[in-house]
Amino acid sequence: MIRYALACEKGHAFESWFQSSAAYDKQVKRGLVTCPVCNSAKVEKAIMAPQLSGTKKRGEAAPPQQVSSSAPATPPPEAPAPVAMVSPQERELRKKLKELREHLIKNADYVGKKFPEEARKMHYGEIEHRSIYGEASPDQAKELNEEGIEFHPLPVLPDERN
Ligand SMILES: [Zn+2]
Repeated sequence: MIRYALACEKGHAFESWFQSSAAYDKQVKRGLVTCPVCNSAKVEKAIMAPQLSGTKKRGEAAPPQQVSSSAPATPPPEAPAPVAMVSPQERELRKKLKELREHLIKNADYVGKKFPEEARKMHYGEIEHRSIYGEASPDQAKELNEEGIEFHPLPVLPDERN
């Protein structure tokens, strides 16, 4: 079984298990993989997604937890920058990533370095929810992640960095 971090065309991030990467391809192609939020079947693998720590709210005391030695290891939140090797087979995926990114940029407000602040305000209901994108340092991303704030990085295509 493989767990993939996925995102729909509207940018909702979620995770799903698949038998294999071939099974993933087949199910996505047939529209069997849908977003749990908006039910869209247009889903793509997210290049990297921070682990979401549930719906814990600020000021809410965490319940005491038994720590088990067999708890699954979580990947480090400071993941390295996304990279990709582009083979011919991946051209289609790459094209879709580009579309996803363009879609996000077109439909979201650019908030620049205020991203962590704006994301937090939305998360805690201080301002209305909307799609935003901007910049967050690895530390800021880690903090947001620890507060259970859902966000994910814009896909970056290697050849656009030149
Ligand atoms: Zn969705």
